[in-house]
Amino acid sequence: MEIMQQALQIFYAISGLKINLLKSSVFGIGVDRDEVEGLGRHFGCKADSLPMAMSYLGIPVGARMNRIKEWKPLFNKLSKRLAGWNAKLLSIGGRLTLLSAVLGSLDCWKWSLEGKHIFTVRNVRHYIDRTSLTVSSPPTRWNPLIPKKVNMFIWRLLRNAIPTRMNLFARGIDVNTFMCVLCTAGIDFNDHLFGSCSFSIQVWKKLRSWLQIDDLSLALPHQMMAWLDTYHKEILEAIFFLWWWCFWKHRNNLVFEKEATSSKNVFSPIVSLSFLWMSSRCKSTIFSWPLWRISPRHLM
Ligand SMILES: [Zn+2]
Repeated sequence: MEIMQQALQIFYAISGLKINLLKSSVFGIGVDRDEVEGLGRHFGCKADSLPMAMSYLGIPVGARMNRIKEWKPLFNKLSKRLAGWNAKLLSIGGRLTLLSAVLGSLDCWKWSLEGKHIFTVRNVRHYIDRTSLTVSSPPTRWNPLIPKKVNMFIWRLLRNAIPTRMNLFARGIDVNTFMCVLCTAGIDFNDHLFGSCSFSIQVWKKLRSWLQIDDLSLALPHQMMAWLDTYHKEILEAIFFLWWWCFWKHRNNLVFEKEATSSKNVFSPIVSLSFLWMSSRCKSTIFSWPLWRISPRHLM
């Protein structure tokens, strides 16, 4: 309270605008009436209450924000701004960009999930993890060295939400065959594609020798993530993410474009894209293409 009084005095000293306390009122939001009156007496001004319908920055002042109905005005505002877009036609990365742009355009509205009034993807990610995901869901990983679309793909992969033939069938979609298009010997589902598929094993062998981690055998993405947790290297994690993403892209090319299968077609883009994306995103590390091509080990 003393600090507030001092602040008012400093404001007067700097601006020359004296605050007439007799004409001023003190308001409380979410504070007991007694406390407001005590403050009023202390400052020598009136204790007052806000009109019920008053809103500030689109949110009712003094409202209990844990009630859904209090968020309605903000929800309507957001819906109006998003109405011109058909989000179903956008990729997941595009949806994220659009949402971020709309939130950013509400310049009067302050993000206060963590009470810090700053909008960050990390805050939203933690909020979604806390409130929407089941306890058994793996924590969301977001690697800043690779593009959003790859991170989004990993998020779906770790939740078994990528459209493999098995997953499509489970959702009632007609599939001609369940067979894996890469080896034609297994079933097209996560555990096979990213674990036991002979084609996957060929790619892994190339990747393992390039990364110089010869003692690590191929395991499923969530098991690999547990191993990465003990390693604490963003670069290695980014390469693994790219590997799964390139592998899935290659599988899709085979399904839809009938391209020829070759483990080189997966491995080469992992090496070149990882260099391209990471060297442009990570300014604090010096990347050398001749060294990177041989192995990125020196940076891990
Ligand atoms: Zn296979």
